[in-house]
Amino acid sequence: MKITQARVYSLSVPKKTVFKVAYASRNAAESIIVCLKTASGLEGFGEAVPIKEVTGEIKAEVYQKLMTFCKKLVGTDLANYEEILNEASLTFLYMPSALAALDTALWDLRGQQLKKPLFEIWGNAREFCVASQSLGILSLPETLNETAKYLNLGLSHLKYKIGLNPEDDVKRIKAIRAAFPQITIYLDANQGYSVKEALWVIDSLKDCQIEFMEQPVNKNDLPGLLTVANLSSFPIVADESIQGLESLLQLLNIGHIPMINIKLMKCGGPTNALKMMSLAKKANASVMIGCMIETRLGITTGLHVAQSQDIVRYIDLDGCFDLKVDIVSSGGAILKDGKEFVTRGPGLGLKLNQELIVSLTGS
Ligand SMILES: [Mg+2]
Repeated sequence: MKITQARVYSLSVPKKTVFKVAYASRNAAESIIVCLKTASGLEGFGEAVPIKEVTGEIKAEVYQKLMTFCKKLVGTDLANYEEILNEASLTFLYMPSALAALDTALWDLRGQQLKKPLFEIWGNAREFCVASQSLGILSLPETLNETAKYLNLGLSHLKYKIGLNPEDDVKRIKAIRAAFPQITIYLDANQGYSVKEALWVIDSLKDCQIEFMEQPVNKNDLPGLLTVANLSSFPIVADESIQGLESLLQLLNIGHIPMINIKLMKCGGPTNALKMMSLAKKANASVMIGCMIETRLGITTGLHVAQSQDIVRYIDLDGCFDLKVDIVSSGGAILKDGKEFVTRGPGLGLKLNQELIVSLTGS
């Protein structure tokens, strides 16, 4: 089955509200979409979200390089997907989100060829995941209001961003726990603490039934991360410390981490995510599938990965819910009654609104 058309779009999809974390504020999904079409009329889609602080990529460079690569794909046969992916892995060695977009578009086509949803092809572990919603760093009254708002929407698993000020964080989280005894609390410090600060926060929150805390310390401080993980009363999750397979191996070689956060944009797509999960399984670490500020295309891909494997214990796939527009016109990830699941169409099981996509491309 020949690829007859390959298109790449660079777009900004605005958010309704600004999202503040320990290292930045975000007001849009800075997305690049790859669309591959075959002679038989199948269309495969994939998303890249290059973010310098997280993936080390520059958006304009990713766009140019994807354009060049995709032009060369026209005329190649999808049966050679392994060769295509090998070449892409070399071309995009330091551009993981670009690789993720290509890998996803190829998988989407293959799933459609096999007439099965991707999560079924990859392992078929579950029909849905328990949804969670992240809240940026806000004042206490705002945090309490937002929490109440999400509870009303049927969400009970909430992730609070911390890491700017240990005392303020402890006060805020204690107040949230006191006001909402029934919710499940995830924490994410986004590298904001020293080891000493992290241990103090963890000790201060030991009676607050915290489900886990992501990345308390700097991503390069692997011994520090493992020290905190060993001493913590609740599980510590490696997020920014892990990019792809190599950095996961590096961490597992020096110690045990209870959980890792896999993001497709960091690791280069579903193929690498599946490899990382089998490594994590051997190392007795569980997995959460996270995301960036992505469109529903990227979120759907993450959800297929999450629904495919037993080892996935948590998801944090809320990156599209605050966007002003939805580039997916049918199918894809659905959030309902605190659960997230994908529609059962073949491949990713979605269609894109290409007119809307074109209107969001600034260049
Ligand atoms: Mg995180």
